Amino acid sequence: MKEEEYLKELSRCVRCGSCKAFCPTYDEDVTEGMAARGRLTLLRGLSLGQLTQSPVINDRVFSCILCGACAGLCPPGVDITEALYHGRNILKGSDKKRRYLRLLTKFSIKNPDLSFRLLKMLQHILFPYLTKKGILPFQSQLPDSPLRDEHYIYKAAKKRGRVALFTGCSVNFLYPHLGEALINVLIKSGYEVVLPQGEVCCGMPFRTLGLEEEAIRLAEKNMRVFGKLKVEAILSLCPTCILALKEQYPKLIGDGMDRAMDVSSFFIDKIKSPHGSRLAPHAESVTYHDPCHLNYSLGIKKEPREILKNIGFELIEAEGEGCCGFGGLFSISYKDISRSLLQKRVDAYLRTGADTIVTSCPGCIMQLSSGVKDKKVFHVIELIEEAAC
Ligand code: SF4
Ligand code: SF4
Repeated sequence: MKEEEYLKELSRCVRCGSCKAFCPTYDEDVTEGMAARGRLTLLRGLSLGQLTQSPVINDRVFSCILCGACAGLCPPGVDITEALYHGRNILKGSDKKRRYLRLLTKFSIKNPDLSFRLLKMLQHILFPYLTKKGILPFQSQLPDSPLRDEHYIYKAAKKRGRVALFTGCSVNFLYPHLGEALINVLIKSGYEVVLPQGEVCCGMPFRTLGLEEEAIRLAEKNMRVFGKLKVEAILSLCPTCILALKEQYPKLIGDGMDRAMDVSSFFIDKIKSPHGSRLAPHAESVTYHDPCHLNYSLGIKKEPREILKNIGFELIEAEGEGCCGFGGLFSISYKDISRSLLQKRVDAYLRTGADTIVTSCPGCIMQLSSGVKDKKVFHVIELIEEAAC
């Protein structure tokens, strides 16, 4: 975004305050700078030269979870999250607090396989240490190997169509079993599945840290790999990846993957239990957690619920909705807010009395699992797999 355009976008804010209504950070800390209106006002002040960069301004701008809950509430339709990404790009030089996080993120995204092998070697020492220090509230064991290795095509016996899988880093390196579940369901449903060689991180971790140039390079690489594939859909199990490929790449590089899709939308008409009988037998009832990017940014809310009901589960809705507090690197930078948001959602889900919590995002699984002791948190694809395979 050019400076002039950026200032114009920031100036569209009429300061009505509607964006505060469901803002999770404002809910945790009721000060003006913890909601979109305050954040945009600070960025406008910086752009006009009325303010100078400072740790306090950085903190306000980087404490946004980028959940998108405010976007649909803005009467003039300010592109709030895009303005915040751009603001982070401007502030990254003065944001010393996250400089090591930037270095680590750059290293791990540039060297994903090496990072995986290093972490695998060190996990038994490193993870308990980081968990004890409260830095890492997540899972403490990595899988034996990543999902994706080289270009691979999974053939279906009776071919009904062809799709590609954008695995994303979290599924590839942390939850490969989710990718395997999706591949199983697709093959069973008659789809040839392409895992092309050359996929890189979708770029969102870079964007959240203000590393726009690096995010652009990743977007261009992914477009080169996926743009030329002859497939009817590019499926991902991670809503943040889908948001990047579909909505953010056009803003970053002028071209995106409009065939990028979440699994619930893809399977909505394809998976049904005959006569409404329950096909997945490990739980009687489920409650569903909406991942922010799927719900607020991509507008996918009814599809996963329909699928769960179609395969025979009793769906018990929890009170309210909102962010689980994960937000990628947010959960490390702002762990108190993150844990408090988590607790609110976990309490709401436990009050439903449902046997199982289901969601559609590996990040939400990681976060929710760390807050629920005696229940497993499933990705919707795992229940679809049980029903269909
Ligand atoms: S994106 Fe989420 S956290 Fe950020 S200002 Fe909007 S509602 Fe608040
Ligand atoms: S809802 Fe939109 S116009 Fe109103 S204060 Fe928030 S960003 Fe500004």
